[in-house]
Amino acid sequence: MNIILLGPPGAGKGTQARHLVETRGMVQLSTGDMLRAAKDSGSEMGKVVADVMARGALVTDEIVIGLIREQLNTVNAKGFIFDGFPRTLAQADALTELLKNEGESLDAVVEMEVDDEALVARITARSTCGGCGEVYNDNTKPEPVDGKCSNCGEAGKFQRRADDNEESLKTRLMEYYKKTSPLIGYYYAKEMLTRIDGLGAIEKVQGDIAAVLDK
Ligand code: ADP
Ligand code: ZN
Repeated sequence: MNIILLGPPGAGKGTQARHLVETRGMVQLSTGDMLRAAKDSGSEMGKVVADVMARGALVTDEIVIGLIREQLNTVNAKGFIFDGFPRTLAQADALTELLKNEGESLDAVVEMEVDDEALVARITARSTCGGCGEVYNDNTKPEPVDGKCSNCGEAGKFQRRADDNEESLKTRLMEYYKKTSPLIGYYYAKEMLTRIDGLGAIEKVQGDIAAVLDK
């Protein structure tokens, strides 16, 4: 089963994808994580994308499609969760094509709906463990006071993303509405879209997504 988690920055796609990995053995393909890894590795491509990402703009379709193609060619999985990809109609078409080449198809697209005010609040409160990717939130899930990640136990690894600031967030939201939200209509027309309320508690959202996958 292959699914897309669709939604604006801060909708909780990464958190939910991680849960599906743990509970269902699916593989998360997050272009955001791949691009951040490229940036951290200091590769040529990483240097090109660092600036674009920090501003909150989209990197080129060519780069992200290349990253996904590479993963689909090399990774064998019971199912893929596409998190943060596709983000443009061109990427959506490329994904259909790439999956077809693997003899696979897309089974569901879950749109996580969250209003803008909540997104800003979530993102500006967010931090992540650099060791394992566990996501924390100053208000709802604060970093443990002993400084150790509750998931992997590593100390002093909490970090904030360079693009989790108000200015970049404005651009990220605008990019989402301009370039990514048309995918909602696109997958609706293909009868693949299910919209869920992304504002609920993490467990509630987990349940809603499970209901879509087990349908
Ligand atoms: P979020 O969903 O919280 O905005 P991501 O980690 O998915 O964060 O993405 C971070 C940044 O990486 C984006 O703002 C963009 O610059 C780049 N990026 C990630 N995925 C894509 C994609 N599919 N197409 C273009 N740019 C992308
Ligand atoms: Zn950790």
